[in-house]
Amino acid sequence: MIKAVKNIVRQHEGKLTSALRLANGGHGLGRLPEARVPDATTTMVCGFCSTGCGLNVHLKDQRAVGMTPATEYPVNLGMACPKGWEALEVLKADDRATQPYLRKPSGKLEPVDWDRAMRTFVDEFKSIQAKHGPDSLAFISTGQIPTEEMAFLGSLAKFGMGIRHGDGNTRQCMATSVVAYKQAFGFDAPPYTYADFEASDVLVFIGANPCIAHPIMWERVLRNPNDPRIVVIDPRKTETAIAASNHLPINPKSDLTLLYAMARELIGQGLVDEEFVRSHTHDFDLFAAHLETFTLERAEEVSGIPADEIRRIAEMIGRGERVSFWWTMGVNQSYEGVRVAQAIINIALMTGNIGQPGTGANSITGQCNAMGSRLFSNTTNLLGGRDFTHESDRQTVADILNIDARRIPDQNGWAYDQIIEGIALDKIKGLWIIATNTVHSWINQKHARAMLDKLDFLVVQDMYHSTETAAQADLVLPAAGWGEKEGTFINSERRIGPLKRVAAPPGQAMADFHIFKLVAHYWGCDELFSEWNDPADVFESLRELSRNQPCDFTGIGGYEMLDQNGGIQWPYRSESGDDAQERRLFEDGRFYHADGKARFCFDQPKPMPEPPDMKYPLVLLTGRGTASQWHTQTRTGKSAILRKLYPQSIYVEINHADGERFEIEHGKTIIVESRRHRIRAKSFLTNTVRPGQIFIPMHYETVNRLTRADFDPYSRQPSYKACAVAIRNVHYTDVDEEE
Ligand code: SF4
Repeated sequence: MIKAVKNIVRQHEGKLTSALRLANGGHGLGRLPEARVPDATTTMVCGFCSTGCGLNVHLKDQRAVGMTPATEYPVNLGMACPKGWEALEVLKADDRATQPYLRKPSGKLEPVDWDRAMRTFVDEFKSIQAKHGPDSLAFISTGQIPTEEMAFLGSLAKFGMGIRHGDGNTRQCMATSVVAYKQAFGFDAPPYTYADFEASDVLVFIGANPCIAHPIMWERVLRNPNDPRIVVIDPRKTETAIAASNHLPINPKSDLTLLYAMARELIGQGLVDEEFVRSHTHDFDLFAAHLETFTLERAEEVSGIPADEIRRIAEMIGRGERVSFWWTMGVNQSYEGVRVAQAIINIALMTGNIGQPGTGANSITGQCNAMGSRLFSNTTNLLGGRDFTHESDRQTVADILNIDARRIPDQNGWAYDQIIEGIALDKIKGLWIIATNTVHSWINQKHARAMLDKLDFLVVQDMYHSTETAAQADLVLPAAGWGEKEGTFINSERRIGPLKRVAAPPGQAMADFHIFKLVAHYWGCDELFSEWNDPADVFESLRELSRNQPCDFTGIGGYEMLDQNGGIQWPYRSESGDDAQERRLFEDGRFYHADGKARFCFDQPKPMPEPPDMKYPLVLLTGRGTASQWHTQTRTGKSAILRKLYPQSIYVEINHADGERFEIEHGKTIIVESRRHRIRAKSFLTNTVRPGQIFIPMHYETVNRLTRADFDPYSRQPSYKACAVAIRNVHYTDVDEEE
């Protein structure tokens, strides 16, 4: 490592000068001579899912030697799922990226030092900009890094490097909820606290399977003392559906019609909270008129749920004292997800189930810091939930960051799918991907792979050099992971929680924060970020950026205060003096639109983009497989314990009737084919899927070779949940075909 790089690292590591030594060959979970966390037990939030559990990390010689769930942390109350228990183990994997790798003319990725890596990165990106214009570069960020790092990346790329197009992998999971809330409430604001799981007397889960996707949230449901009714609306008989009082196994993508019919029934039965609607909402009359044709009979025909059952559930909702509605990817990952989410919001509004304990139209987020990304990644929103197209917003941000407002783009950048299509159209030539595995997770994977291959230069910044995306990179930058750096995450209930440095990154790997600092230096824009020498500096800026926004957390004094309070939910204003533990939104019935009223948003349901037909007679559903798997298994696949808790090879759930129909036996390798590709998977005959549908967990590398690239028009979120496929036994002629 040459002197210049050492200086940058020293300068940016501040008190953690030991990072220099680590960057020169320190390994694994070695001693941290100047770590901020002394020997003892320290509490930090988990780095997998958005539940944001508190984990007690036990230290010896300033080295993390064990971990237990934190009993006092207000989120998980002493519980953790298997992923949380194994969070330290996945840091020790052999395929950690320990130094930068550059693709050489031979085609092989070979190790280089940081100086060479940074010079190459900057030379390649600047020459692309010079040749093809500033908009020929893009970045794809993530919901997996601390908010401070997201904000740094988004600011560096957009204000420093002149890269307008940037998006996050949160587009794949939460964009729908963001748009739904913004349009309905005036700001992206999930209104609940986890205490609401325990206070409802009716809980309605739509396209959500918390038993395995958010198991600690489900534990909170189980603590509910009210003997609540639990309604699950989901095509599959999921683990949650099995535990529910009522399961409505709807036909795929019939949710919008079903929810409109329930809303119509609520009106018909006189179960609308008229006072709440009159005082706190707009456009209810228009919505009521829209509902006229959504009869129970129509809903029965479309959804497959008997009219009487729909009526009963509507009545249960209308007569419930405290009804909460919870949704996640089954709603969000749809070509009409925004309107489905808003149909849920509409029912909560019209029944007055919002702002009170045990109520709410509540989207459950996916990644550990998707909520941080939604507010501070500087991708779809300008920092703090602001708008790039508003001059006053740009000026406010420029003033807080002490930069020239002309550096801030006055247009929105492209969404993820537009960036991928921008490559197809030869408009995007250079791409920087940070902590996400596009090649595995993006919809219609074959196309995504081809697009990344088409780039002039692809930079991948990741903990592991072995991801499918890193394998296609021209340059791999080795990043520290959860537990190897500081910052904050924001969980599903808007709780800002601390992340701590309890282990050393391996080899020359560095915190993303320091990599961004290096990039800024080599790019020549480090002056812009001269006040950000530590994640805590960025946190200070974020506090100011939140001021007078709905997410205002100017009352949080710093990381220590988060520690003392078990995280703090936004908003937490400096003058509030609130109880730091729990904060539900809209308790006063005021929403974030200028008039303080929520909006009813609605539309006509649209047909499924690729319905089943003679050639592809089945609908493919995708989703989470087990509580032990996380997304593309980049991390969970590294734990020997977690690997024992789920099937290692891809499998497909098929109803027994379809097994008979297509002469497929249980446990055989079969072909699953869509118009995009064909894959092999092991058959699993079961009644958890209904005839005409199959299910494949999303965690296996080949599943997205089948999916079709359809998007919600408002949120541009991919519709992973339904495309047409066929299944058959393997033919001897398949041997030589590409699969
Ligand atoms: Fe971590 Fe989520 Fe499991 Fe909690 S539920 S331990 S946050 S993965």
